[in-house]
Amino acid sequence: MHQEGTAQLDTSQPEMNQTFDAVIVGAGFAGMYMLHCLRKLGLSACVFEAGGGVGGTWYWNRYPGARCDVESMQYSYSFSEELDQEWSWSEKYSPQPEILSYANHVADRFDLRRDIQFDTKVTTTTFNETTKKWLVETDRGHKVQAQFCIMAVGCLSAANMPSFKDIDKFKGPIYHTGEWPHDGAKLEGLRVGIIGTGSSAIQSIPIIAKQAESLTVFQRTPNYSIPAWNEKLDPKYEESVKSTYPELRAKARGRPAGFYFPFNTDSALEATPEERQKQFEDRWQKGGLPFLGAYGDLLFEQQANDSIAEFVRTKIRDIVADPKTADLLCPDNVLGCKRLCVDTGYYEVYNQEHVDLVDISEAPIDRFTPNGLVAGDQEYCFDAIICATGFAAMTGSFDKISITGRNGLSLLKKWEAGPRAYLGLASAGFPNLFMITGPGSPSVLASMIQAIEQHVDWIVDCIAHMRDTNVTTIEPTNEHEDNWVEHVTDVSKVSLRSTCSSWYVGANIPGRPRVFMPYIGGFPIYVSKCNEVMDNGLEGFILDGDPNTTTVPEPRWTKRWRVPLDMDVISPATIAARRVPIV
Ligand code: FAD
Ligand code: NAP
Repeated sequence: MHQEGTAQLDTSQPEMNQTFDAVIVGAGFAGMYMLHCLRKLGLSACVFEAGGGVGGTWYWNRYPGARCDVESMQYSYSFSEELDQEWSWSEKYSPQPEILSYANHVADRFDLRRDIQFDTKVTTTTFNETTKKWLVETDRGHKVQAQFCIMAVGCLSAANMPSFKDIDKFKGPIYHTGEWPHDGAKLEGLRVGIIGTGSSAIQSIPIIAKQAESLTVFQRTPNYSIPAWNEKLDPKYEESVKSTYPELRAKARGRPAGFYFPFNTDSALEATPEERQKQFEDRWQKGGLPFLGAYGDLLFEQQANDSIAEFVRTKIRDIVADPKTADLLCPDNVLGCKRLCVDTGYYEVYNQEHVDLVDISEAPIDRFTPNGLVAGDQEYCFDAIICATGFAAMTGSFDKISITGRNGLSLLKKWEAGPRAYLGLASAGFPNLFMITGPGSPSVLASMIQAIEQHVDWIVDCIAHMRDTNVTTIEPTNEHEDNWVEHVTDVSKVSLRSTCSSWYVGANIPGRPRVFMPYIGGFPIYVSKCNEVMDNGLEGFILDGDPNTTTVPEPRWTKRWRVPLDMDVISPATIAARRVPIV
């Protein structure tokens, strides 16, 4: 390995076959923090990023209304107390441009850009069994070798553009929310159609309605959405958080979803109807994802879930004036089964004359035409069409890279029937290939920046330990991987979340295998499993090289993940009683 992280990619000769300790694919929050940590360890690293800047999700998703749904004071890095103190968020849930500014600030503050190649897609990565290095190739002709290949490609980064018949015949522009033009889309005074009613659509529809002459929403499945009650961040609140930031961050790490908010572990079924109504109403008035923290059994007991789902349906009927439209907007599946949406004025928008809802659950979009699209034998005419059709979640960005491990094993082929990875960190047959928030880790079921930091810290600790002990390669055993994959599936069955056709199970895209991909057992439980694996000498991994067995130094595990679990919530008793909110 290089002793200092000094080697830099020679951009004038991309094909020069330079060697680094690590190549990182992606410069979102995951790739950026990974680069920072590897440098601190003294490793040389080179990052390839398909986009023209840092920020990942927040670089690509520039649609009107895009903002986070975890409060900004918590949806931010926690690794640097100085960064925590110096950055100020303007809103409770900050908008995309501000989150992107934050990512740019981090890139500048930690001098990250000099090791990132922008506008460069990794196309192929191949493990060489002789050199024990990865050869990483890009669409711009780079060929780079590295001991470690780290996938920071994002869980929600491969846009899903359905293959609508005759889509190329439409004369107007077609936009995808996840690939929004950087100079914006001109929608003022236009007849606009939008396909989809997931989080991206629900955030953008109220704003697009203000711009467009008419807006038609094509809904295949209605979604539950909770008001954000977004507001300017109160400086007093900011000050109070900042005065005890480390404590808040530590509390967040001990919570099932990796972020802190008060919740109630009582059973909805043991409450009286009046108590339930009051609890739901209080939570509605506070808004956002913490709505699901009203009771501990909402995602375990169908009847408990029915009670909160009916509460939201009543709200929808109260808000939406036209009963037929309100009916169409009322979901009948498990609340929280698909990712809960958080909105500002979503249901209210359907009271505007120029906004229409078209139910395509029975009569799907048949084809596009030069003037619009046809659904249910009716042609709808538009000047512009927006696809808010989501992502090939969790594995989509892996699928686009030709990844070849030992003995010519292709990751795409290995994952044909669903992704297989030990702890969502690594996959058997792919030595020294790490995944940040890979399938089988809490990832999208946690506040993702915390999930990213925990993975990066674990990977860095692991690499440091390999270096200390003369280990050249690491990969999971098939047995441990199989057991983990089985465990991830088993745990998912305990939750009502596994019961519907969501992107968590790949159901949003025809032909994808139905496998519950994220780990649903709760962030702290997962973190303690990762710690245990470390403590047991990287249990479940095969370590190869010339391990130093005589003078093994004390491992240097990152301390901040060794926080005590919040036993009020994550205790054997609450788990046995199926009273763990947000799992
Ligand atoms: P990404 O931000 O997706 O970055 C991955 C990067 O890898 C991308 O820039 C991509 O271009 C690059 N890449 C992929 N493949 C290649 C390749 N072959 N070659 C080169 N580069 C490649 N999570 C929350 O916890 N809270 C929220 O409020 C929240 N809001 C969200 C809102 C939206 C609109 C979306 C889409 C997601 C949201 N998420 C949220 C999830 C969000 O994706 C994560 O919070 C986080 O930003 C992911 O960071 P990442 O670095 O892992 O991945
Ligand atoms: P999504 O939740 O997958 O929603 C996609 C929508 O498009 C769904 O309504 C889906 O219908 C519809 N759709 C897909 N293919 C279709 C087709 N062929 N015909 C008709 N309709 C089709 O995607 P998203 O809204 O982009 O959100 C993805 C995730 O990103 C979220 O769940 C969340 O984790 C994250 N996100 C967060 C925020 C935030 O609030 N911070 C904002 C945006 C995104 P079906 O439901 O029937 O499949």
